[in-house]
Amino acid sequence: MKVTAIESVVLSVPTVKPVALEFTEHRLVAALIHTDEGVDGLGYTLAFGGGGAESIQVYLETRLKPLILGEDPLFVERLWERMFRADRGIKRQGVAAYALSAIDIGLWDIVGKTAGLPLFKLWGAATDRVPAYGSGGWGNYRTEDVIAEAQRYVGRGCRYYKMKAHHPDPRVNRERVVAVKKAVGDGVRMMVDVNQRLDVLGNIRQAQLLEDLDLVWYEEPVLADDTAACAEVARSIRIPVATGENNYSRFEFRELIERRAARYLMPDVGRANGFSETLKIARLAAAHQVLVSPHVVHELSLQIVGAIPNGFLVEYMDWAPADLFTGLPACEDGQFRIPDRPGHGIELAPGAVEKYRVR
Ligand SMILES: [Mg+2]
Repeated sequence: MKVTAIESVVLSVPTVKPVALEFTEHRLVAALIHTDEGVDGLGYTLAFGGGGAESIQVYLETRLKPLILGEDPLFVERLWERMFRADRGIKRQGVAAYALSAIDIGLWDIVGKTAGLPLFKLWGAATDRVPAYGSGGWGNYRTEDVIAEAQRYVGRGCRYYKMKAHHPDPRVNRERVVAVKKAVGDGVRMMVDVNQRLDVLGNIRQAQLLEDLDLVWYEEPVLADDTAACAEVARSIRIPVATGENNYSRFEFRELIERRAARYLMPDVGRANGFSETLKIARLAAAHQVLVSPHVVHELSLQIVGAIPNGFLVEYMDWAPADLFTGLPACEDGQFRIPDRPGHGIELAPGAVEKYRVR
């Protein structure tokens, strides 16, 4: 089999409320990989809030695509190495890792379709259903918006809800968490996400104010570049730390693990160099009693969590309009059944490219 063409597109997808209170759009950089045997693969990465999408597409088109054209798409590891090692002066982090991820995901889609298996089964299935946590509660929401969003996820059976701790005054963040907990009741456990906004001391102070609230985790406390600081927070607070959505390779995750910087790792398949690298990260975590709860794009991450024994929850952030994808699984009773179609099971809906394409 040979790759005959790769088309890339950038889709600008407007958000709806309440997500629209924080972001007006997200951008999707998609790679449609065609082969000479009529099997096509879809890979994509999500530029959250839209930032960087154009650069991701340019890197994909100019640096990665030439390495894949004419090659056998079933040799994913070989092609991954070729892409990862191509520009030795450009680390596969940020823009370059997003671009590599999109292609890697598209290659795996072809492998699954060729084998006639959904990826989680191709990789050795651990489960076909994965519980989800509702995610949102951004800083620009009013407290009543957060409560309404949490109740919507709970109405779909979710037993976990994550909100942001973005207010500069930690007492305000505590009040908001307490208000949501009261509204959703004891059957729902919560998490908070700092999104790298505080330093070590700021996190220690905030976590002390939150530690009686039975939180599942305390997320991304410090700059994702600063593993030492994350480890210091993890040692100093009584809530388990989760991090990893802005880390890109098994080597970075190895450092997080070795420093005991988190109990939960959250690689993003569209950032951390694709399914190939995320699987390696998950296997590494399994050797250290660390759980994996991948970041957003749950419709793709489900395949990873279904293939590993140390998967925890997928992040359910309900932002995609109904006419963007086909094959999206529904959240039923707080969990997703992993699509049983060959590959990852997700396609762009007919007309979605025409409707949302910006470049
Ligand atoms: Mg986060």
